[in-house]
Amino acid sequence: MSQKYFPLDKEALEEIAGQFPTPFYIYDEQAILENVRQIKKAFSVFPSYKNYFAVKALPNPYIMKILAAEGFGADCSSYPELLLAEISGLKGEDIMFTSNETPAAEYIAAKKMNAVINLDDYTHIEFLEKTAGLPELISMRYNPGPLKEGNAIIGKPEEAKYGFTHERLIQGYSLLKQKGVKRFALHTMVASNELSVPYHIETARMLFELSVEIFNKTGVRLEFINLGGGVGIPYRLEQEAVDYQVLADGIQKAYNEILKPAGLDPMGIRTEWGRVITGPYGWLVTRAIHKKEIYRNYIALDACMADLMRPALYGAYHHITIPGKEELPLSETYDVVGSLCENNDKFAVQRNLPKIETASEGAGDFAVIHDAGAHGRAMGFNYNAKLRCGELLLRQDGSVVQIRRAETTEDYFATLDVSGVGEFV
Ligand SMILES: *Cc1c(COP(=O)(O)O)cnc(C)c1O
Repeated sequence: MSQKYFPLDKEALEEIAGQFPTPFYIYDEQAILENVRQIKKAFSVFPSYKNYFAVKALPNPYIMKILAAEGFGADCSSYPELLLAEISGLKGEDIMFTSNETPAAEYIAAKKMNAVINLDDYTHIEFLEKTAGLPELISMRYNPGPLKEGNAIIGKPEEAKYGFTHERLIQGYSLLKQKGVKRFALHTMVASNELSVPYHIETARMLFELSVEIFNKTGVRLEFINLGGGVGIPYRLEQEAVDYQVLADGIQKAYNEILKPAGLDPMGIRTEWGRVITGPYGWLVTRAIHKKEIYRNYIALDACMADLMRPALYGAYHHITIPGKEELPLSETYDVVGSLCENNDKFAVQRNLPKIETASEGAGDFAVIHDAGAHGRAMGFNYNAKLRCGELLLRQDGSVVQIRRAETTEDYFATLDVSGVGEFV
């Protein structure tokens, strides 16, 4: 059973909230670093191991810079994400551009930065050649279709819009080789939030076998294989975290069994993990503001699904704790909700929690929403003209810095020129 940890007690939170009012995200630098170092320790057996942090999980250059200092790169899929990587000090092949349905301007930008372009379809070979020109190194994304089972979030590979079919992929390497491309890589991403270690080992095995087939059929010897993202985190108390060492050992066994006899050692191994890097080390800190007892009992927070939409979007579970009340019995059953005019704006449904005091009754308890460090703030939106909260970083020395301010009404109106409204109609 996993423990849900939070690095601050109620007193420390009150002090932080005095300076930065709730709601806010807070990330734990020390915990992120310890996690990254464990991953590096387990995966350093592989040639040129690198994780390209999936920027979409937590697109904040302060966090990306901490990861870059540990040797991590960035996985980008849009022009602004490329800019974030650049601002974080990343250059060239430290950036993997795994995009899909990509406009010409973004390929041109990625090529200019010498990022590793990861093509999503056979037709994109010609598109890239015509628009940006072919770079020296190219990766392609494989979609195994019915050859591989997917999972709940990403769905079945044969229904997923991403990647090349098996046949087109082999043809793709031949075509690129013919066109003078010199260096090649292979990528796949077939699952999201998957906790099964055998599943990820199986994915690696599939790619290793494919790389041998590519070599035999086209003569292309890959430089590296990118195993993609999708390693899950234990959102629920009863779930177990992925053991990096067990995962790396399983991948190494497949490497030794498949790549070595085929003469494809050394082969670079890369990953593109986002969620597992920062997810458990970020929290959405809110305060309970209202309590409502109708057909169900509701606790309303000062955050809403504009700040964290995973529960509403996927029915995802996020653990909630009440600082200072960790030891109290879970005597109440609440729906924990936000203020959107949308009934699925619920952080928790029929959740057992200690009795919560709201700001309308007194000081107002904090409610901490766990495992919000990836695909959290980044997925937010402005529906109902809700303003998204800011982000704080708990530094290794215990200090707290703001790494993104909360949105203001001015931000909301920034894209709207209201000067013409007065004369309009
Ligand atoms: C989302 C995504 C990732 C990161 O996935 P996680 O589940 O956060 O590890 C990596 N690569 C691609 C192509 C993605 O779309």
